[in-house]
Amino acid sequence: MTSTAEILAQDSHLIQSFADLNALKAQGARTVISRAEGAHVYDNEGHRMIDGIAGLWCVNIGHGRQEMIDAITEQLRQLDYYSTFYNFTHPTAAALSEKLASLAPGDLNAVYFGNSGSVANDSAIRILHHYNIRKGRPNKLKVLSRHGAYHGSTHLAMAITTPAYSEGWTAASDLVHHLRAPHFWREGEGMSEAEFLDALAGELTDSIEQIGAENICAFIAEPIQGAGGVITAPAGYHRRMQEICRANDIKYIADEVVTAFGRLGHFFASEAVFDTTPDIINTAKGLTSGYQPMSATIVSDEIHDVISGPDGMFLHGMNYSGHPAAAAAALTNIAIMEREGIPERVRTTGAYFERKLRGLADLELVGEVRGSHFMMGIEFVKDRATKASHPAEAEVGLKVARACQKRGLVARPLGNVLILSPTLIMDEPMIDEIEGILREAITEIAAGL
Ligand code: PMP
Repeated sequence: MTSTAEILAQDSHLIQSFADLNALKAQGARTVISRAEGAHVYDNEGHRMIDGIAGLWCVNIGHGRQEMIDAITEQLRQLDYYSTFYNFTHPTAAALSEKLASLAPGDLNAVYFGNSGSVANDSAIRILHHYNIRKGRPNKLKVLSRHGAYHGSTHLAMAITTPAYSEGWTAASDLVHHLRAPHFWREGEGMSEAEFLDALAGELTDSIEQIGAENICAFIAEPIQGAGGVITAPAGYHRRMQEICRANDIKYIADEVVTAFGRLGHFFASEAVFDTTPDIINTAKGLTSGYQPMSATIVSDEIHDVISGPDGMFLHGMNYSGHPAAAAAALTNIAIMEREGIPERVRTTGAYFERKLRGLADLELVGEVRGSHFMMGIEFVKDRATKASHPAEAEVGLKVARACQKRGLVARPLGNVLILSPTLIMDEPMIDEIEGILREAITEIAAGL
């Protein structure tokens, strides 16, 4: 086995994602994950930890499933690679597109495959631009997004992500208008939740009026903002926003890169949890449980009809769109979820997880515990009465995450928020273990501040 020191020396050539690259130059600042099994991961020294973030909200069915490995291997034996360019297709991508059409709500029956959530979101916007140009509306191109959103790191996906991540500059900034984050606890000061919802709806209506509906192709929203800190909107928010969009002929895109494939107890959360029927759903991560990179942009019949109309080519395509090994992974992943009833089970186990984590709100350091089922965030504050945050230099989230890791739990710090999004195979004893570790870790860090 390669020693940790050797791996870290090799790793000095690797550029990490969303990392303080300068801090990472210190040897030992990186965690080497070498092995994974079920709900656990192992570092290179063999320390076993609960994977409290499912890789990166990806590994919904748990790690190391032999059935997945076999399905991917068998697919590679049959057909290792072929594209879905021009008039080519292959059986596994075809079967997966039919399966996704059957699982997606409403008339979302046509799928464009990509290899990442960023590509799924880029593709949705490219498809809508194509759609509007075909319909003779060449100015209907702008996108409404929200502060706190995360839609990916390609240039277009970053432009629709919260401006906080792009350091204020993107080449596509003219294309995007950001609305308020729907975070009642932080943004709704002095209002009831219903008044806050009215204010958000009013802001959308005003923005459409100012920009002109004839210039806006889409409103894009994660059902629950994930990387923005697990922000859950007031009840009825998505439905209300969708109704305003419909009335203005603006397409509603749901970014279900995180929320689909069981994390909230359903294959897709839009209709089942949030009472909306988007025009496009984008997904990735849980689609293959991360065993292969794959995303899907699932569009309505109406959009598909326009882009497949008689007036020219669909000029969009990527090498790995519908990659056979990824498609095989997705089909097997979905079959496992259906056979084991994973989404249904999450409605019970995920609700238990949510309840246990909400119990941590009694700790002095905790300002808000939020989220739903296996998608939770804990925000730490300096003062619970004023909701004042600790300064970034205090690195409270990072310190708590390290204290968790020491105790055998991987959690994800995002500034003053700690994210918990484990595999969906958690049972009650394991959830109790997670809660116990979190309680100890938060208490330890609070005492040292
Ligand atoms: N959308 C959402 C909601 C995400 O959370 C992410 C990634 N965490 C993305 C899009 C981008 O996905 P990827 O990193 O696969 O490009």
